[in-house]
Amino acid sequence: MTDLLPSPDMSPDAGPYWDAAKENRFLLQNCDACGEWRFVPSHLCTHCGSDKTSWKEPSGRGVIYSLTTVHRGPTAEFRAYTPYIIVFVDLVEGPRIMTNLIGEGAEHAAIGDAVEVCFEARQGNTKVPQFCLAPKGDAA
Ligand SMILES: [Zn+2]
Repeated sequence: MTDLLPSPDMSPDAGPYWDAAKENRFLLQNCDACGEWRFVPSHLCTHCGSDKTSWKEPSGRGVIYSLTTVHRGPTAEFRAYTPYIIVFVDLVEGPRIMTNLIGEGAEHAAIGDAVEVCFEARQGNTKVPQFCLAPKGDAA
């Protein structure tokens, strides 16, 4: 692939998420009231309803809950990127995140494989947190 994929739509609640990604940092909201981590970013805690939250850096590690390979992209940019892999990752901290699996060996990934966050450059000087297979021997 020679061209970068488009930048995603960015909701106002997710500003710190995208700002951190530009610096290769992975931040999630952590509820100040109940301590639960959450994804996707939201104004209110999905566990207790509190509006008190802090952006914190989780481990960036997890395991693949489910995955699929996309052979027919929705736009010309994504068609040029096929085949690519969409995964649901269960983060060590609890949230399940839908993302892409990229990097070496991604095409051979399986449910239960350990993964870790990595970052993919996109158009508009942005980066997107994605996931890569963790080095063998690393437990999530
Ligand atoms: Zn909460």
